[in-house]
Amino acid sequence: MAPTVTDATGQPGASGSAGASGTTAASGTTGTAASAGSSAQAGAHAQAGPSRQAGATTRTVTELADGRELIYYDRGTPPTTRAVADLRPLDAVAPSSEVRQDPMTGAWVTVAAHRQARTYHPPADECPLCPSREGRLSEIPAGDYQVAVFENRFPSLAGEPGTHPVPPVLDDPLHSRGPGIGRCEVVCFTADHDASFADLDEDHARLVLDAWTDRTAELSALPGVRQVYCFENRGTEIGVTLAHPHGQVYALPFVPPRTAKMIDRAARHRAATGRNLFDDLVAAERASVAGASASDSVDSPAGNSPSDCPEDSRVVLAGEHWTAFVPFAARWPYEVHLFPNRRVPDFTGLNEDERAEFPRIYLDLLRRFDRLFGDGDQPVRAPYIAAWHQAPAGHEDELALHLELFTVRRTADKLKYLAGTESGMEAFMNDVAPEFAARRLREVGQAGAASPTTPTTPTIASGPTPAAGSTPEATSETTYETTYDTTAEEAQR
Ligand SMILES: [Zn+2]
Repeated sequence: MAPTVTDATGQPGASGSAGASGTTAASGTTGTAASAGSSAQAGAHAQAGPSRQAGATTRTVTELADGRELIYYDRGTPPTTRAVADLRPLDAVAPSSEVRQDPMTGAWVTVAAHRQARTYHPPADECPLCPSREGRLSEIPAGDYQVAVFENRFPSLAGEPGTHPVPPVLDDPLHSRGPGIGRCEVVCFTADHDASFADLDEDHARLVLDAWTDRTAELSALPGVRQVYCFENRGTEIGVTLAHPHGQVYALPFVPPRTAKMIDRAARHRAATGRNLFDDLVAAERASVAGASASDSVDSPAGNSPSDCPEDSRVVLAGEHWTAFVPFAARWPYEVHLFPNRRVPDFTGLNEDERAEFPRIYLDLLRRFDRLFGDGDQPVRAPYIAAWHQAPAGHEDELALHLELFTVRRTADKLKYLAGTESGMEAFMNDVAPEFAARRLREVGQAGAASPTTPTTPTIASGPTPAAGSTPEATSETTYETTYDTTAEEAQR
């Protein structure tokens, strides 16, 4: 699998220590060179030489003071400041963590006690993700950047992948444990502290996609890594402790519980029907939209919101290459799954046509979330989790790349908490009908869409209200790169 970026070869300071794929090979397609088809997977080298044009993505690999890797991604030619050194007096951190398996459920739990010391809600002028400036050195030595990725100083998973035996399972069936090998990276989406992903322009969003793709290609090649998980937590309600727009990439040494369940369901579906579960799922949702067959997009300037969508359709956006819909059994008040229409195992499998359409679709989706709870001209940023599911090693034939995007907000002033049923039994109770959520998400894509007046959200007739409280509160002792109880909880399923 080739990354979609070209290395900035000859950059002073470029080192690269991520392992297997290294950073010396200037491989991969460029932002504009790849054509439709299998170019990304085939590792097209078209224009690898003269690719430093506007529209092509270039990466520059360098190192922070404590030895952690820092990678800049730039559209076009990176400035020479990419090689600027990290002058902070940082001691190398020797993080250690272990994974333990729950003998009752089989779920792996990561124990990383060293993370208690991590940065927590720093003031804005001490943001570690802003570019460095005179007298104020951050994690990013450069005075500006487009997209930057670095290894987390307080990672949940640490230890060089490949240096430990895999799988990390001992003979004791009740106490399976192993080193928490893997890698945790922070992805800074933009140098603008006050922006949000939804504020990026399409070219910049494309740059983030290229960075995700590159990280997936590189990290999945590391020994012992089972799955590369790219995600974003947005909003203090989620437990985010750094306001700067950023996401994370975890190279996991195990298959997380939600993925394990999908593997099982896909196998059952294959056995019962002979077909792929995700293919059938996307086709079924698209079939609910008149005129939105796989080859026929329903286009509009704002995106691809189907204009003649039946009331009960769950489709939110039907693009030529991507489809977004509220899942039939949505767990969250507003939850959208986004799939490429052509099944691929991970980011590296996307072709250029799919990459080209992605920014418009994804930005449209995020902006709809921000309009869900607005009051007239006052948009209310929706706290959300954007979770990118990618096929783990060995399951590329059946698992499908897709996004699961959801907000914990139920109404303008109410949050969804994971309480007794969810946290205690992993049984979700959703107060918003998926079909209603889809209608709302279609409505807010239209210019001048009416804001919901509280509380128009209909509730499903039966079922207890799972909210445990009505005021936002810190969900846990979280941190530097942000975690969230529900994420952790969800990871157990
Ligand atoms: Zn910042």
